[in-house]
Amino acid sequence: MRIQDKTVVITGGASGLGLATARYLIEEKGAKVAVFDLNDEAGQRAAAELGDRAMYMRADVSSEESVRQAVDAVVARFGAIHACINCAAILGPSKVLGKDGKATPLAKFAQMAMVNLVGVFNVMGQCAEQMAKNEPEAGEERGVIINISSGAAYEGQIGQCAYAATKAGVIGLNMPAARELGAVGIRVNAIAPGLFLTPMAAALDEKVLDTLKSQVEAPKRLGDTREFAHCCAFILENAYLNGETVRLDAASRLRAR
Ligand code: NAP
Repeated sequence: MRIQDKTVVITGGASGLGLATARYLIEEKGAKVAVFDLNDEAGQRAAAELGDRAMYMRADVSSEESVRQAVDAVVARFGAIHACINCAAILGPSKVLGKDGKATPLAKFAQMAMVNLVGVFNVMGQCAEQMAKNEPEAGEERGVIINISSGAAYEGQIGQCAYAATKAGVIGLNMPAARELGAVGIRVNAIAPGLFLTPMAAALDEKVLDTLKSQVEAPKRLGDTREFAHCCAFILENAYLNGETVRLDAASRLRAR
């Protein structure tokens, strides 16, 4: 897909990897970007910084109605949706058993599943509905979806049951969605990032963060958010990349703790 003048929805786009991608796609590639997020202050700040080619919509990815309203607003403002990058997610500890040896209550697991997995399915579906109306570019491509997973999907650490399971679910969505939506000219790919210093990573306990940093292989540093944004642009632009999950992690493999 040629990114210039295309409209890209980025969930979680008010912060971290999503915000860096919004900035990159507008400044380097001439895209129009709709940021969907729950953090109004950060979202409005992002839209003001990014200028006329950006808009912010408060949208809870886990709600059909909220996403429907946001998608309608994007179509009203920019006329179409060509790509969607699903970055919105929440992080939190979850074990099978609590310190008291009792089974962990389900509420936290269910909430993480609603945002990190059901939310991805919700936004990709509603965006795909709009993409299907586009004229195909080069006779073959109407849209591109990028869903953000995590290295935790492969090597989840102790205490990451819910997060790792939801992120593995995102990878599981990839192939059936790519196969189904290929018929209408929409590609679906995923990125499984390693450690990037964003507000989500900064919220981790300092000891946990130091341990994670020590497990980065080469280059021996955290990822730069522009490297993530560049990977998104590559996926958008390369029409032959489909049904794939790109591990963007400097060969890091998380240990059990
Ligand atoms: P981040 O800085 O925390 O940004 C996530 C954004 O999503 C926040 O603005 C958050 O708003 C928003 N959000 C949360 N729940 C939402 C909902 N229900 N609806 C709409 N927006 C919602 O995270 P990040 O580090 O950029 O991570 C981006 C993606 O990469 C996530 O999927 C994450 O799991 C994945 N990832 C990140 C890393 C890393 O090292 N940073 C590593 C592996 C994978 P609030 O601030 O209000 O919660």
